[in-house]
Amino acid sequence: MTLSLSAVSVSEAISEPAVPSRHTNMAADLRKLPILKSSAVGAPMGIRCVAVYESYQLKQFTDLGLAEPILRAIKSEGYTAPTPIQAQAIPLMMTGKDLVGIAQTGTGKTAAFVLPLLHRINELRDRPIANHCVALVLAPTRELASQIADSIRTYGSAMRVSVAIVVGGVKPGGQIRMMARGVDVVVATPGRLLDHVQTGVIKLDRTETVVLDEGDQMLDLGFMPTIRKIMAKLPKKRQTVLFSATMPQQIRSLAEDFLNQPAEISVKPTSTPIELINQKVMHVDRDQKRDALIGILRGNDVGQTIVFTRTKRGADKVNEFLQKAGLSSGAIHGNKSQPQRQRTLDDFRSSKTKILVATDIAARGIDVDGVSHVINYELPNVPEAYVHRIGRTARAGKSGIAISLCEHSERGLLRDIERTIGTVLERETPPGFSGQGERQPRSEERPASARPNNGAADRPYKKFDKPKARPQQQQAKSRKPHRGQAPGRSQSPNSGLQRLAS
Ligand code: AMP
Repeated sequence: MTLSLSAVSVSEAISEPAVPSRHTNMAADLRKLPILKSSAVGAPMGIRCVAVYESYQLKQFTDLGLAEPILRAIKSEGYTAPTPIQAQAIPLMMTGKDLVGIAQTGTGKTAAFVLPLLHRINELRDRPIANHCVALVLAPTRELASQIADSIRTYGSAMRVSVAIVVGGVKPGGQIRMMARGVDVVVATPGRLLDHVQTGVIKLDRTETVVLDEGDQMLDLGFMPTIRKIMAKLPKKRQTVLFSATMPQQIRSLAEDFLNQPAEISVKPTSTPIELINQKVMHVDRDQKRDALIGILRGNDVGQTIVFTRTKRGADKVNEFLQKAGLSSGAIHGNKSQPQRQRTLDDFRSSKTKILVATDIAARGIDVDGVSHVINYELPNVPEAYVHRIGRTARAGKSGIAISLCEHSERGLLRDIERTIGTVLERETPPGFSGQGERQPRSEERPASARPNNGAADRPYKKFDKPKARPQQQQAKSRKPHRGQAPGRSQSPNSGLQRLAS
């Protein structure tokens, strides 16, 4: 693999690391890199871009200088080569410098920060100190925290490493007992961590490295004030690593306030997952959605499937009718207790249940291999959530199918999604449906390449284009707005109505 390190302050990273360099061999290797271009151009966040390195050959994990037990664990996972984010982040993290990584889930970024943490822990060999941890990883959701902890155990299976998962939704007793002994790594969601820090159960004054994973999601979930309080409890001399899929202003200021001259690396997913996903829309009436969903789920080619709803109540209702129809499913959303959420996720991961019904928040960061289908039982209010949802399939280079069941009142949301992804989605008739009432996209809406050859599934506009909105609109006036109604979206009568109906 040819690695292109662009706009990374590598030489600064080597010359004066915040934590004394623990990886002199790697640092020496980096010093030997050819500087093909130099640039004095300042990057965002005041990061000094002193050099652009190209053509650094990192073909194997063995080139990264990782300890032998870690290499053994990676090998038994079947990884043959580091992903681009791993090839870039691992050597940089091993120099002890701060790092900002712009990368999404699916790029292998968990191993990118977990492997250097494990390398450091393996080097230390000291027993953990009571109530302390060497490394802290902050994640936005309980599920993601638990997934990261699993990765730490997997990649650390050939060495001694202790991990505490510190998340809300469970009784604190187990966490308190675990912390009394001290651990190598704490993986936490911000709220519960701060509770423990304030009561002295967790002391952060000896923590060497802190990783903030999925920074933009933590921002979306309102965690920034809590994160700032946590950062203030960490020692000044530490390594701080921030991963985020995007860089909104508040994440930038977080980096400016808490990171010390970070190197910045940015990777796109190796293959844009969206290209591997066969995306379709099925236009159905609201009362046809259940039959359409069951029809799809009973298809021969359907494996593990995630069904998305907008609301927690919606997720429970869908789960109920799927179970009544004899399908094996479980629901996951914010009103479920943490043990329930974990059990449901474990059952789905181990294929004990075939279908996971989820809301957006609960599904964030979930990485389950082998999800063949994502079904949007209800379209999301924000188009970006659509991209996030369908990314649960087609993982690790596999292909996947994403089907959206779109009722009349969701057409505004569908248009927003199509605008965001820059494609008009293929229309298809649900299995067992005649296509009656199905909307044929206007010819000018769809690129020639997107038009299916067999028009069998397509029908001209029928009732959906017409007045059906009117009686619903009257009904809407007499009902209170839905609590979850997104601000600024009510201009469209359709989008307002669909929220009332949800
Ligand atoms: P992440 O972006 O950390 O959520 O990782 C996405 C998926 O990629 C996970 O299922 C990992 O097990 C897998 N993965 C991570 N690193 C590698 C690698 N070097 N080679 C193959 N698969 C990997």
